[in-house]
Amino acid sequence: MADIPDLPPIDTHYMLEFLTGLLKTPSPTGFTDLAIAFTEQALAAFPELEISRTHKGALIAKWPGKQDDAPRALTAHVDTLGAMVKEIKYNGRLKLTKLGGFAWNAVEGEGCTVFTHDGKIVRGSILLYKASSHVHSSDVSDTKRSDDTMEVRLDAITHYASATRALGIEVGDFVAFDPRVEVTNGFVRSRHLDDKACIANMLAAIKALHDAGLKPAQTTYLHISNYEEVGHGGAHGFPADIHELLTLDMAAIGEGQPSDEFHATICVKDSGGPYHYGLNQKLRKLADEYEIPYKVDIYPYYGSDGEAWWRAGGDAAVSLIGPGVDASHNYERTHTDALVATTKWVVAYLLN
Ligand SMILES: [Zn+2]
Repeated sequence: MADIPDLPPIDTHYMLEFLTGLLKTPSPTGFTDLAIAFTEQALAAFPELEISRTHKGALIAKWPGKQDDAPRALTAHVDTLGAMVKEIKYNGRLKLTKLGGFAWNAVEGEGCTVFTHDGKIVRGSILLYKASSHVHSSDVSDTKRSDDTMEVRLDAITHYASATRALGIEVGDFVAFDPRVEVTNGFVRSRHLDDKACIANMLAAIKALHDAGLKPAQTTYLHISNYEEVGHGGAHGFPADIHELLTLDMAAIGEGQPSDEFHATICVKDSGGPYHYGLNQKLRKLADEYEIPYKVDIYPYYGSDGEAWWRAGGDAAVSLIGPGVDASHNYERTHTDALVATTKWVVAYLLN
């Protein structure tokens, strides 16, 4: 490794602390200001970054590099799956509409928070409308989960639509699912590791360079997207002259997938087609040289903000890397090994 710079150490404790804090900050797509503010505050610890927000609410940080002739960008998204109040039922309970793509059974029984349009918070849980086994017997297992059969039971006394409205709840209010974060034996188990894990990777990479007094090889724009789960977060917010865009998003684990919870993954193809071969080759070479544990994978039902930038007309080489996340868009889990591997890969990319 004589011709490439050594990697500075990664502060794993910092990474996990930041990640836990971000996971506990609700940010369903369309209601991301709290998580954007949380991330902005963390970025503010690094005075070398010039931080701004776009009109759409994404966070951008410009990081001047040793050179400025081939600027780059990194993107990761702070928005998550969630829901919105679709209807207040006659019995005071709520029907929801989904924000992002997931199966209702993945959030059945989960606690949730309703954010009323006038700034109040009401707690509740997501249940099948025929939830009690003692009343509905086999209907509890046989009923298809859908927008019409799932409801929110509010932790407030309400048996009528008017009583729910009196709580301040209306159609269009945002609903966040409880993340249930737990860190055990190096595993991080939580909802919304997609894509908060990658924001933590990005922050830990910035801190590694900052603490070692290093600059990125090229001026680099850090893009914290707030509309990825609905497909257009990456469609704006990058300067037109970026040469490369490294997308950081979770790797999907499952039968037939090489990805696992202990490696970083480079995705060479997903639903949007192949990523950029040249940049992929460069990233794989870096991972090989720095002995970063990684997999190469293809995700069958997946899109990314890097592709959103391509669809918007962005002229940059785009690649996608991220930590392996089990049970994606469900109750997710990854391991610190995958988080460290991804962070090292980002650091290696920034320095070379
Ligand atoms: Zn994602």
